[in-house]
Amino acid sequence: MNSTYATDRLALAAAQTARLSSCTMKLGLVVVLTVLCPYTFAQSVNQKEVEAVYPDAYALYLNLHQSPELSGHETQTAGKLAGRLRSLGYDVTEHVGGEGVVAIMKNGAGPTVMLRTELDALPVEEKTGLPYASKVHTKDDSGRDVSAMHACGHDLHISSLVGTASVMAHSKDTWHGTLILIGQPAEETITGAKKMIEDGLLTGFPKPDVAVALHTSNEFPAGKVGVLSGYRYANADSVRITIFGKGGHASAPHTTIDPVVIGARTVLALQSITSREIKPGEAAVVTVGYFHAGTKNNIIPDQAELGLTVRSYKPEIRKQVLDAITRIAKAESLAGGAVREPLIEHYESTDAVYNDPALSQRLVPILESALGKQNVATAEPIMGSEDFSYFIAQGIPSFFYGLGGANAQRYDQAKAAGQSMPSNHSSLFAPDAQPALRTGITSEVAVLRNLLNGSAEDLRQNLAKTAGAR
Ligand SMILES: [Zn+2]
Ligand SMILES: [Zn+2]
Repeated sequence: MNSTYATDRLALAAAQTARLSSCTMKLGLVVVLTVLCPYTFAQSVNQKEVEAVYPDAYALYLNLHQSPELSGHETQTAGKLAGRLRSLGYDVTEHVGGEGVVAIMKNGAGPTVMLRTELDALPVEEKTGLPYASKVHTKDDSGRDVSAMHACGHDLHISSLVGTASVMAHSKDTWHGTLILIGQPAEETITGAKKMIEDGLLTGFPKPDVAVALHTSNEFPAGKVGVLSGYRYANADSVRITIFGKGGHASAPHTTIDPVVIGARTVLALQSITSREIKPGEAAVVTVGYFHAGTKNNIIPDQAELGLTVRSYKPEIRKQVLDAITRIAKAESLAGGAVREPLIEHYESTDAVYNDPALSQRLVPILESALGKQNVATAEPIMGSEDFSYFIAQGIPSFFYGLGGANAQRYDQAKAAGQSMPSNHSSLFAPDAQPALRTGITSEVAVLRNLLNGSAEDLRQNLAKTAGAR
């Protein structure tokens, strides 16, 4: 504990005592108070606590931003995270599901709460012009030379988690239970969460009662967070359709079965799923992202291949869309006289990220008191996907909130001009790291202190009230 911390802890203790005495005066009995005000200790985040850890967290951010590693290759990043958490007193296990890091701090009886950060960066060449812009070149999994950039802000998530880990480790009198911090690799390829679970994350370590994560974007200016109860990210399904025709000379179409024409009809018919089959008001996306066929203009090819991205929120809508894709693809091949049924491969998928309504209801006022009411906005559902859904699918009630990343001035200018700021994954994505990092740490500490309080049973009962409402 450094001297700044000692002063901060004294200030926090004094603030808590003040709250305690006012509560005591009203209720008379300390015993009654501990029953009726179970969260008295848990809700405050002293800004001095955040400032005490901020310089190290920001230095880590700058370091990570300049040393991005691609999905599945986060060796140095995981090592930096593990080393820092170990030095803070966490019990750290590395190489869980590849480069995954699991850090645990047990602090008496109480709930088990997991906070997650991702570790990976993207094959994007940074063009932000920032003095700390990434200049990293590496090879991707297919051996191609690529640039690497933290274009999704995972560096901000890691440094925020480390700052939070430090505040929590230095203030063990403000919470009780088991805190699990995880560094998840390979989020961008939606494989990391699954691998960590398969490698025993939820069986070899205490199983979380609740899981928490944040994600930065330019949806909100830095300093704000965005919260949404219910669906936040979509079910994502990748579908590949191979159409089997009969190739030949382009000048003699009557001797062939043209898979390009069947494919073209299939693409158009697929668009009628969302416009004609899905109930208006329900969300679904069917995009044909590629259509590969042929090599030369005077050859009718044997095959055509369509690559689809399919998005939805509700499980029944997901099923309806996927069933319709199969039906249409088969029917168009039949109509075009294809030599056999198309091959329909469902090769990648992840579930929707669903924010537990009771958890959202409980945590919104906590965030409002930590950040100011004006800094807690309502987020919108997004058709993007996130493999954090794997933890939710394991029955862990979850809270996934948005961390504002946009520079406030540029955000206002863009809004006034009717423009949007660079999105995640853009080579120009440049979060306003300093205010965003402070907000990340403040919000995470506030959320964790609120959840790591009372008994695990109370927390489960609190959340069970809305179970089944989904
Ligand atoms: Zn991303
Ligand atoms: Zn991301």
